[in-house]
Formats: sequence, structure tokens, C-alpha cells
Amino acid sequence: HHHVLFATQARIASVIEKGHFHPDPVDWQRLDNYRREGGFALLQACREGEVTVEALMEAMQQANLRGLGGAGFPTFKKWSFVRQEAGPRYCAINADEGEPGTFKDRYYLERSPHQFLEGALVSAWAVDAEALYIYLRDEYPALHGVVREAIGELEAAGLVAPGYIVLRRGAGAYICGEESAMIESLEGKPGKPRHRPPFVAQKGLFDRPTLVNNVETVYWIPIIWQRGAEAFSSQGRNGRVGLRSYSVSGRVKRPGVYLAPAGITLNELIDEYGGGMADGHRLAAYLPGGASGGILPAAKADIPLDFDTLQAHGCFIGSAAVIVLSDQDDLRGVATNLLAFFADESCGQCTPCRVGTEKMLTLLERNEWDAGLMTQLSQVMIDASICGLGQAAPNPVLGLLKDFRGELAAQNVIVKG
Ligand code: SF4
Repeated sequence: HHHVLFATQARIASVIEKGHFHPDPVDWQRLDNYRREGGFALLQACREGEVTVEALMEAMQQANLRGLGGAGFPTFKKWSFVRQEAGPRYCAINADEGEPGTFKDRYYLERSPHQFLEGALVSAWAVDAEALYIYLRDEYPALHGVVREAIGELEAAGLVAPGYIVLRRGAGAYICGEESAMIESLEGKPGKPRHRPPFVAQKGLFDRPTLVNNVETVYWIPIIWQRGAEAFSSQGRNGRVGLRSYSVSGRVKRPGVYLAPAGITLNELIDEYGGGMADGHRLAAYLPGGASGGILPAAKADIPLDFDTLQAHGCFIGSAAVIVLSDQDDLRGVATNLLAFFADESCGQCTPCRVGTEKMLTLLERNEWDAGLMTQLSQVMIDASICGLGQAAPNPVLGLLKDFRGELAAQNVIVKG
């Protein structure tokens, strides 16, 4: 009975998450089906010595596979950093996917958990990890059942030793998506980011060298090997290489996860993938990287969306969560909402973030904005916060000050300085 009840609750939660009724929200690919398509051939070839770590790293480098959780660090390099450290080592997969507007990891996990698990196991193999931890956010209750069952299938088929994969639940804290906070949480402590150095590659889980990879990053590993690095490196647009999974939401006709060329622009993404702007809405602004990546005006919708390229505009792509805003959205309200989110989710261990987010909220409430004061506060948060949360929190405010003075004036906000 307990099992049935849990399954029902998970289903209801999943239905609520999707916002509409769906009788069978999760219809995932089973192990036998995945194996018929060549699944787990790579893992077995690795274990049997037919594929070397060097060859695997070379393929990932050629495919330009980068950390798709947000940092964009080349995957092969991460592996080699962890391999340089003396064992025992661990591998931990970040499935916390808490960045507002990001839902790509969920999309892949609920369709092909075995492709994800193979990629994760290959990644763990590449650093000779003692154990593979998966940190899955609890806001995806249906996925817990899916991943647990998929792991059970692997154990039953003898593809992984029982207990090698450890599935852990998050507890609803955004900050646990930050890798060192996730490791603290995996150790059973409050999720507070660590100071670096040492990096988690040197001293991570239980103080051992730890490889932390995002769900989508490892998801692509078996496919890259199967189809060849060229299948990925031949993709891309506007000078960028590869493919990205954009989570597109907001004022578009067809929100969703779209696998599109890296470097595609917002205009192209909306027109070619999102079905155009929603009826009655005119593009006004967009968040290229969820809550953290800043805000850009419609006039800058022709910038290639990828790592690095947005930096010159004070923004970043992060996990490619593109939130489209229109002339009907209240931009000051958007900034206030984001700052309130960061204030709520701040772990509180450092002053520039804990106090800075609250202070910024009070400044946003005023009808006369002191640009100098807001910029100064932002700079302190950027320079002195321990982790990315506090460093990114002022981005929406800086974006409004830079590119949206006309819109603010229309909302009766006078910006001074
Ligand atoms: Fe915690 Fe914010 Fe400091 Fe990060 S920046 S460690 S979330 S208080």
C-alpha cells in the first residue's frame, strides 16, 4: 500500500508540475530497448580495455563537450584534473537542476534514464571512481522512481555492482546546485558552498578527489562515442561549435526544450524553434541564462547564445535557460522577483550576499533609483561573495540600469546618476 500511495503522490506531483493532466507522465526507455540500440556497448568496451581513457578524452575534446550545468568547463580537462589526484576518488552527478527556467536535465532523465546512467558510469570509470553518487532534486518526485528503477534494472542485469550507484535526494535548496554545497549536502551537512582552493577535483566528497558532472554533460557521452565527435563538432552557428539544449520559456508560442546549434541567436531560437512570439506579445527583453545570467533588451537579440559570447554584455548563458519577456511584462517586477529569490535562497554564510540581496530589494522598492549606490552595492557583492549566487544576484539590476532606462521611466522609476 505504501508503494502504491507513493507512486500516486509522485504522479499527482508530476501532473501538477506539468500544469496539465497527463495520464502517464513518464514513459521512459527500458534497459532492453536501450541495449538493442547499442546502449552500454561503450561502458563494456571501456571496462574490457577496448576503449582507453585517452581515446575517450580525445573524442570528448573533439566534440567540444563542456560542462552543461552552467560553467562550461571542458569535460575532458575536468577528467584529467581529477585523474591527476591520488585515489580513492569519487564521481558525483549534479541533478539538482534548480536554476529558474531550466528543465532540460529533467527532459532527458525522464525519457532516457539509461543513456544518462551509461554516461555517468563511463564518467566514473574515466576517473576510476570508488562510487557514483547522484544528487537528484526532490522537486522531481516522479524522477526518483524512474532513476531508482533504472538503477535496479542495471543491477539485475549485472551491469553495475549493487550499491555502486548511490541515489540521493536533495531537500529543496537552490544553493545545493553549487557543486561544493552539493558535496556538503551529500555528506549530510547543511548545503553551504566551500571556499576554493582546494577545488572539489582535489578535495571533494569526504575530502577525496571528486569529479562533479552535470546530468546533460554525461548524457551525451555514449552518443558522441557512437556517432562520432564530428556529429557534434560539425554543428554550431555564428562561429560557435556544438549543440546546446535550450530550455525556452516565457512569451513564446511553443515553450520547451530545444536541441539547437550553439551560438544561435535569440531571434533565431524564437522563430525557428519557439514558434514565434505568443500572440499579442512583442519581444522586450530576455534572460539568457535563467535567474543568474542577467537580462538583455530586444535590441540585443542577435548575440550568439553560448558560453563566452555573452560576457561582453555582462551576461552569461549558464545552463541555457532562455526566458522570453514581452512588452506586457513589468521589468522592475522581474528584477524584484529575482532578487527576492536570491535573498530567499542565500545560504547566509557571507555578508555581501546575505545582506546585499536584502539591501538591494529595499533599493528596488524606491521610485527614485540611485544608480551609483546600486552599482557600488553590486560591485561589493560581485567582488566579495563566496560563491556564484551572491556574485550573480545583482545581474538583473545592473542589466536594467544599463539597457532599460526608457522602460523604467515608463514605469515611473527615475534613475539618478
Ligand atoms: Fe552563501 Fe550567498 Fe555566500 Fe554563496 S554568496 S556562500 S549563497 S551567502
